[in-house]
Amino acid sequence: MLDSKTIRQQFLDFFQEKGHQIVPSAPLVLKNDPTLMFTNSGMAQFKDYFLGNKVAPFKRVADTQKCLRVSGKHNDLEEVGHDTYHHTMFEMLGNWSFGDYFKKEAIEWSWELLTEVYKLPKDRLYATVFEGDAKDNMPQDSEALALWKQYLPDDHILFGNKKDNFWEMGETGPCGPCSEIHIDLRDASEIAKMPGRDLVNNDHPQVVEIWNNVFMQFQRMADGSLQPLPDRHVDTGMGFERLCMAIQGKQSNYDTDVFQPTIQFIAAKSGKKYGENRQTDVAMRVLADHIRAIAFTVADGQLPSNNKAGYVIRRILRRAVRYGYTFLGFKEPFLHTLVPLLADQFSGVFPELKAQQDFVAKVIQEEEAAFLRTLEVGLRKLDEIVKSGVQTIEGKVVFELYDTFGFPLDLTALIARENGLVIDEVGFQAEMAAQKARSRNAATTEAGDWVILLEDEESEFVGYDYMQTNARVIKYRAVTTKNKKQFQIVLDRTPFYGESGGQVGDSGTLAVVLADGSVKNIRISDTKKENDLIVHLSEDAAVESVFSADYQSITATINQAARLQTACNHSATHLLHAAMKEVLGSHVNQKGSLVNPEVLRFDFSHFAKVTDEELAKIEAIVNTRIRENIALNERRNVPIEEAKNMGAMALFGEKYGDFVRVITFNPAFSVELCGGTHVAATGQIGLCKITAESSVAAGVRRIEAVTGVAAEALVSAQFNLLQELKDTLKATDLRKSVSDLLEEKTKLTKQLEALQNEKTQQIKQEILAKIENKNGVNFAAEKVALPTADAMRQLAFEVRQKVENLFLVLAAEVDGKPQIAVILSDNLVADKGLDASKIVRELAKNIQGGGGGQAFFATAGGKNTAGLAAVVTQAATLV
Ligand code: ATP
Ligand code: MG
Repeated sequence: MLDSKTIRQQFLDFFQEKGHQIVPSAPLVLKNDPTLMFTNSGMAQFKDYFLGNKVAPFKRVADTQKCLRVSGKHNDLEEVGHDTYHHTMFEMLGNWSFGDYFKKEAIEWSWELLTEVYKLPKDRLYATVFEGDAKDNMPQDSEALALWKQYLPDDHILFGNKKDNFWEMGETGPCGPCSEIHIDLRDASEIAKMPGRDLVNNDHPQVVEIWNNVFMQFQRMADGSLQPLPDRHVDTGMGFERLCMAIQGKQSNYDTDVFQPTIQFIAAKSGKKYGENRQTDVAMRVLADHIRAIAFTVADGQLPSNNKAGYVIRRILRRAVRYGYTFLGFKEPFLHTLVPLLADQFSGVFPELKAQQDFVAKVIQEEEAAFLRTLEVGLRKLDEIVKSGVQTIEGKVVFELYDTFGFPLDLTALIARENGLVIDEVGFQAEMAAQKARSRNAATTEAGDWVILLEDEESEFVGYDYMQTNARVIKYRAVTTKNKKQFQIVLDRTPFYGESGGQVGDSGTLAVVLADGSVKNIRISDTKKENDLIVHLSEDAAVESVFSADYQSITATINQAARLQTACNHSATHLLHAAMKEVLGSHVNQKGSLVNPEVLRFDFSHFAKVTDEELAKIEAIVNTRIRENIALNERRNVPIEEAKNMGAMALFGEKYGDFVRVITFNPAFSVELCGGTHVAATGQIGLCKITAESSVAAGVRRIEAVTGVAAEALVSAQFNLLQELKDTLKATDLRKSVSDLLEEKTKLTKQLEALQNEKTQQIKQEILAKIENKNGVNFAAEKVALPTADAMRQLAFEVRQKVENLFLVLAAEVDGKPQIAVILSDNLVADKGLDASKIVRELAKNIQGGGGGQAFFATAGGKNTAGLAAVVTQAATLV
């Protein structure tokens, strides 16, 4: 039996022989693609080539790509575990042609690979072909049809509609017909009963799609029309785990050697066997699947969190924990123990996991522990609902359980059923739809077509060397988000840095010399990167009129002061990173950063709070390096391997073909891969001052700091504050003055307390003297001068100890507010049925207030101090 490693390798070797460059997988977490949270197909990392933003360095490429389908257009999460061939994370094997070969080679090679290399039986294979769509003016893909007819009989070729067999990148952009290959893995006896063609695209677990070949040949315009693409491309994707199932003669992806080691480990630890019980099987599949998605995403830099991509990961983890808890009896964190297994299994293809194994396991363990606590609360909540005796669990509650406690609908339904209840599924779906609508509304953007002024022009970033340049517009378009209209402008040359790598984008102006010689300044508010395209954003309504007419020239200038301050912060971030490795250890790795003109924020892996002494050491190292005035050594376009050899800090999450730039401040100190802008020498930073240290997530800490003028301003402000305090205290030695002050305060407080005590004793004597027998009760009601409610309480209790058969009412003004206390001897409560809390409420009416307490002692507060006298007089009438 071919093992999965060999299967993967044979794919890559096959296409290498056909002239393809083999490239590594891009990270699961995408940088600079506003349309995607995670890489969900092989083509994601090549978008720029298809969009024509960039020329591909190789015309033919092949790889295996880590994909995650848990959000957006492709979301298979709910199927995973229940079926046997959809995963959250899976590998997509792909071969690409960027304007090179087209349908003929793609189909021919896919056939050759499947039937000659992998020796899959020909009579089990089916192909689908786009049938065309008259309404949309799209022709049938007769080319692909003719090609398939060379290999397959007519009854193994099926026609598919626009939904299944026409691929589009988005609302607009490249698109084209596709052709899928399906395989029938059923027993001969099953096949005899029903031909495979009737099961293609019918969700049958043994008749599955393994490979999709997309032929990009059109461009979808904003008005919906199609235009032929000048360069035609091939984009293919084959599900690696499904391919292994087919080649290894299995009935389920989970029976292949891709998943069996993990499944067997889970089975052993849970003490249950795989393949004996539907529920526990599903649970084992869920765990074996989800741990891959979680571990690889964390390794690629996305931590579980409360929003966006981080929340998606958190939800996957919770789903796994919940299945493990309910069906496999894992009451303690368990998933993290699977990480070493996966790290070893994939060390050859995806070494990023092995390299960060401990960190990844730790993050998962903490996340599991936290959720297990929530889960128990959720189960208790559900238990309460069951006990409350309702018939139906409201949709809102089901949704809360789902959203907050990670209970999928089926679990809540199951628990409900076991207790003879039903759930309001319609209500749940409504809540769910409302939530989806909320997140959609937040992000609806309407983009117009690009207006192209310069064809076939690539955009060049010159901002490492210049703050200003002459430029021409390649293209622009209007984009409307939440009724706000903005223009996106792409220039042939630009000094504007597009937000990426944590560094904010530049702002500035485009000074446009119009045809008549006049100058129009267009303000650029921000600059973003879309994949590798640098997009300048402007709210200036004049963009359209200025660029739709002829103009003479453009001078693009960035806001230099902001850029310089940003550069100080960015370079200081590198120095901090290096200093932290020295002080805290080599496990410190960047987990995120933010660099803008005001502050720098740096998130890094570390398992304990950074102590004040460590912070001081780090800061001292950084400032020493600043004073050394180390010159920047910048190298561009360095091959990634060479960069690693230079000792560049291993940064996972880089994608192949990104131009790698190496930033060095002393090769023995700081060498980093970085696309950001930096100071020419560290002395420019002036000073770095750490302002905060905190925790971001399990195993991740955050440092905030300021540099340059901001650090100077901070130090001055602190210095001025100290000076002001000195002046106020007329102190020569501030430390001594403050400690003297504190000492004096303690002394005075003690004296005051003694005085108050004395006074309270005095008042007590006065009250004792005033107690008189009224209707057989020892009664007194007095307005007293006591400083706190507590002092009143104490006085009342002391009198009660001395006097039997007591009915005492105290009224006082405490901090400008009226207070009443009523205290009774036990016999009055027990024998006469008096109740202090009732009495206090009655009396409190005089002071416009309320209160309560116990039957023998109660207090009240109010608003009307003038009413205190009335309290005393009324009290006498109550005896
Ligand atoms: P399906 O209809 O089976 O969900 P798809 O149409 O979504 O597949 P494509 O987007 O064309 O699939 O992806 C290309 C290939 O990737 C598929 O032919 C399949 O082999 C594989 N694939 C897609 N989704 C998954 C998944 N969730 N888990 C594993 N493999 C997948
Ligand atoms: Mg799908």
